[in-house]
Amino acid sequence: MNIENYIRDIQDFPKPGIVFKDITPLLANHEAIEACLQLLINDLKEKKIDKVVGVESRGFFFGMLLAQKLNAGFIPVRKPRKLPFETISASYELEYGTDNLEIHIDAIQKGERILIHDDVLATGGTAKAVCELVEKLGGEIVQCNFLMELSFLNGREKLKGKDIFAALTY
Ligand code: IMP
Repeated sequence: MNIENYIRDIQDFPKPGIVFKDITPLLANHEAIEACLQLLINDLKEKKIDKVVGVESRGFFFGMLLAQKLNAGFIPVRKPRKLPFETISASYELEYGTDNLEIHIDAIQKGERILIHDDVLATGGTAKAVCELVEKLGGEIVQCNFLMELSFLNGREKLKGKDIFAALTY
């Protein structure tokens, strides 16, 4: 099973000049889901993860599956004004300007072992903001975990000192 065969490039989405990695074919195939999950889990079962933090929205799919496999809880990090309870927020850079991500203030207890998951590591801005949120709440980041790393965008530079895992690297 080669999961790369289930990820397609969409030219000029969401904007001209961008090649978007589309995982919907992978999500539509149960063998591909299982193969992907096995890759993502790698050695995490030994790492005693308390909670998986998944990033809106494509980080929710495998984030939740990872949580279930790791006997961990799941925490959503969302775009502004989506979470109903009290939140803290962290900003990250967009091509033009900035945006924010939010997490519930009671989502993590101090010292909990956290796995951060998202579908793509691109420039690293999103993952860096999520790390800030987790650390503000006192969580210990065990790993930043991605389906895909677009290595030519050097996202790792922004996540210095963190354990980074990507199932696929482009
Ligand atoms: P970064 O902040 O530049 O690292 O971008 C990562 C965020 O953008 C992730 O939440 C991804 O879901 C999204 N993203 C960036 N590029 C792609 C892509 O090619 N396919 C799907 N999502 C992407």
